[in-house]
Amino acid sequence: MGISRILIANRGEIALRIHRAAHEMGIETVAVHSTADADAMHVRLADHAVCIGPPAASESYLNTAAIISAAEITDADAIHPGYGFLSENARFAEIVEAHGIAWIGPKPEHIRTMGDKVAAKKTAGALGLPLVPGSDGAVSDFDEMRAVAAEIGYPVLAKAAAGGGGRGMKVVPSEDQLESLVRQAMNEAKSAFGDDTMYLEKYLGNPRHIEFQVFGDGNGNAIHLGERDCSLQRRHQKVFEEAPSPVITDEERARMGGIVADAMAAMGYRGAGTIEFLWENGEFYFIEMNTRLQVEHPVTEAITGVDLVREQIRVADGKALSVSQDELEFKGHAIECRINAEDPFTFAPSPGEVTYYHAAGGMHVRVDSGLYAGYRIPPYYDSMIAKLIVYGRTREGCLMRLRRALEETVIEGIKTNIPLHEELVREPDVISGDYTIKWLEEWLAKRE
Ligand code: ADP
Repeated sequence: MGISRILIANRGEIALRIHRAAHEMGIETVAVHSTADADAMHVRLADHAVCIGPPAASESYLNTAAIISAAEITDADAIHPGYGFLSENARFAEIVEAHGIAWIGPKPEHIRTMGDKVAAKKTAGALGLPLVPGSDGAVSDFDEMRAVAAEIGYPVLAKAAAGGGGRGMKVVPSEDQLESLVRQAMNEAKSAFGDDTMYLEKYLGNPRHIEFQVFGDGNGNAIHLGERDCSLQRRHQKVFEEAPSPVITDEERARMGGIVADAMAAMGYRGAGTIEFLWENGEFYFIEMNTRLQVEHPVTEAITGVDLVREQIRVADGKALSVSQDELEFKGHAIECRINAEDPFTFAPSPGEVTYYHAAGGMHVRVDSGLYAGYRIPPYYDSMIAKLIVYGRTREGCLMRLRRALEETVIEGIKTNIPLHEELVREPDVISGDYTIKWLEEWLAKRE
């Protein structure tokens, strides 16, 4: 039997990405879309399309009942959630499975555990991952917080257990500000997530963001697919990602990768996951695990040759991993630029009609995007409209090719952040790989 028709519960480039993997495997696709996305590329390419609601995501892409109905009407036997929207919603995963539909994602219990950062940190610690020093779980008493903070040393970071997207987080520089800043973080968390559970962590001064791609078959076998360096961020949003990291040696990759793969095997983890670390002075510190495919997964695909979406579908279909750790080889270097419909330097969103579009091409250039000339970028969703992924045998060669590919890309009618990327790839620190999570914001501040 096996999966024969996948409903794609997402939009934009990732919906297209999933459609492509499915069609290569001979699997039909069902696109579900809001009224604002009727003309989207993945809707045109899918075998079936169902309109599930008005533009607001809460009434369409987050509308569980409408999505399940669409799956039933079209006889879809699997659902791929992409990233964002319902991808890390354990309840939705359970509902999908309760309807006898294959969930192309991790086991609901693992989504739930990792979605609670306090539980995630406990689990990670128990599995042997190195943690950022901090409170032992949640803290609600201010005297206890002061004691913990004094022990780990200021500055500390107050973080919401339910946090995401950088919200519900406050840096506390000294004890006199602890109570007021934690209260602010709690209010933010309460209104954003309906949960103000907090914990404390040592605030690392100038780390890199390094994350490992993992993959499990759900039966106790798991591999790692190396790391990605996503340190170039603005407001905790990644802008430019690369694999491998310029600072991780082959020995470190094998050592840390071995630790995370063993942890996933011990959990019985199923499907794709990402274990995020901060890295400072040669040490890794676990911060969170994402139980989904990430935006930046193509850089890992480029250096390993493994199609991660195909692998997700295979595993959801009960098949074994198509590659073993020993067979996996890391070759060359890949960089991804996130192309957003926004002013390159003020970051004001710039939706509207794309009047002309020419994608870069040539050797080792990949563009994941649903853009076409005449397409109207709706104002309701994320501003990312394309990902440019470039591969080279060396990092230097990759950067040379990336400069050429950026030069070649034409998107007219709206503003994009391509001029920002064009400047970044010429910056000496980017060229040498000498940057941390602070670098981009400091560079932007200097540029003004
Ligand atoms: P979210 O789920 O909101 O993205 P994360 O725990 O992944 O939260 O943290 C987001 C970002 O915040 C990290 O990429 C890093 O830039 C910063 N950060 C998180 N924890 C720390 C820490 N202990 N010290 C310094 N920076 C941190």
